[in-house]
Amino acid sequence: MPDFKLVLATGNRHKVDELLAILAPLMPALTKDQIATTSDFDVSEPVEDATSFEGNALIKARALARVTGLPTVADDSGLSVDIMGGAPGIFSARWAGHHGDDEGNLNLLLGQLHDVPAQHRGAQFVCAAALVTPTGSETVEVGVMRGTLLDEPRGYNGFGYDPIFVPEGMSQTNAQLAPEQKNTISHRAKAFTALAPRIVEALKG
Ligand code: IMP
Repeated sequence: MPDFKLVLATGNRHKVDELLAILAPLMPALTKDQIATTSDFDVSEPVEDATSFEGNALIKARALARVTGLPTVADDSGLSVDIMGGAPGIFSARWAGHHGDDEGNLNLLLGQLHDVPAQHRGAQFVCAAALVTPTGSETVEVGVMRGTLLDEPRGYNGFGYDPIFVPEGMSQTNAQLAPEQKNTISHRAKAFTALAPRIVEALKG
């Protein structure tokens, strides 16, 4: 087994790059192959049955920390639309009924908002990032990216609701931005950045 120092509870190796880019200035010696992901272990996904992003991030981090005995980071995110009282929220990935149906989710949301004028289409992406350490200490940080929702998709980058989300102060959708550009302003980058000092502490401790 490689010499893992940190676990990121995800099936997505791109999230490792995002986290490593944020940790690099604080821990230049940390390398990508020292960060394990869920697929490096023989574990089943825990049921994410909390009622908040923070709760679900903690469920994922606790489950993998228990199995690995290593400091473990997990994130949970979604889109909260102001006029919909924060929905889809924790249901973002399965808003249209099937987990990960990005196109169905986006089209359903566009239909639900079809008669809502531009000035009432405020929304935010929210990310909760949780760190659980082998000593049982738990920290959660939340990052938010505010913006507005268009009435039709634009751009091909990103995923999920990116093609209809224009971040505050910008004129392009997330799906029109270069991935590196989105990564510097994203909800996930903000949550990971806020958590980074605690991750460094856990790795040094
Ligand atoms: P996850 O917790 O990162 O898996 O995100 C859950 C769901 O929220 C995704 O399936 C997307 O529908 C939505 N979502 C979260 N972050 C983003 C983003 O950066 N862009 C677009 N959609 C997102």
